[in-house]
Amino acid sequence: MPHLPARTRIARLATGAALSLTAAALTSSMLAAPAQAAVPAATGASASSEACIEGAADGTEAARGSHTGVDHREISAAEQARIESRFTKQLKAARKTQDLTAAAAATASGDIPVYVHVMRDSKGNGDVTDAQIAAQIDVLNGSYGGQKSASATDTGFTFTLAGIDRYDNTRWHQDKQSSTYRKQTRQGGANALNMWLVDFDYLGIATFPWDYARNGAIDGIRVHFDSLPGGSSANYSEGETATHEAGHWLGLYHTFQGGCTTTNDEVEDTPAQSSSTTGCPEGRDSCSLPGTDPIHNFMDYSYDSCYLEFTAGQSTRMSQMWTAYRA
Ligand SMILES: [Zn+2]
Repeated sequence: MPHLPARTRIARLATGAALSLTAAALTSSMLAAPAQAAVPAATGASASSEACIEGAADGTEAARGSHTGVDHREISAAEQARIESRFTKQLKAARKTQDLTAAAAATASGDIPVYVHVMRDSKGNGDVTDAQIAAQIDVLNGSYGGQKSASATDTGFTFTLAGIDRYDNTRWHQDKQSSTYRKQTRQGGANALNMWLVDFDYLGIATFPWDYARNGAIDGIRVHFDSLPGGSSANYSEGETATHEAGHWLGLYHTFQGGCTTTNDEVEDTPAQSSSTTGCPEGRDSCSLPGTDPIHNFMDYSYDSCYLEFTAGQSTRMSQMWTAYRA
């Protein structure tokens, strides 16, 4: 997941180093009392929390990565096959339980309650305004409603703000102890989108719906606070990172998943592409398979201004995923 321009990345790294030193020096003292939650045990940056930021090895998370496209987690073909096999079975079972025809499951949708958790540092840095959050919800509704392009699909999903909370905790702000803070702050059920706003070297990281049953306590998306509308991430501050991460949360892979293969992202109307896109390279065609790269698709890594659409096939997949795992 791409995201931050080099200038910002350098500044961010320098800041991170300074904060790490501070954290090391303060280790078991009270680093930051959260505004509303219990202070988490000061365990330091554990190996597991680092692994979490990189993306868990078991398919639980996906990230919108760096500009180089190398720091997102890959899902192997074998892993993808297992996920799809379980999905097929779960969809069948869920249709029976919910008494849905195949067509009804393929068009299912919902009004998704959104809980926004603003993870500020101990000095209050990393805050966003309520107006920015409202604008973010508007972006989600516009993008999932197919309003950015004549060729975009209205997925039927809508988003309603259900709550905002703010915490003052430097570790949480830096996305350290992410499993802990997610477990302590997550709200709602499988249908609720929890969005944690943090400061890390990603634009965003998401969990997938097929992991909700065994890992629901950490279900949701982590999004860079500067990616919200009005934020300062150049090229990535129109709120579309949340759109992308919510796409994973609703069961979509990247459009470049699987590279130049016919299976690729399991969606037929998103042409295969060999790798992630940076910027907005019109006409890019990285595979010899039919179609040019879907650079305007929300599930590529293009600039926010380049993101225009979900396809009908992606909409169907999200509906089926909703039926199987979140309805
Ligand atoms: Zn992604």
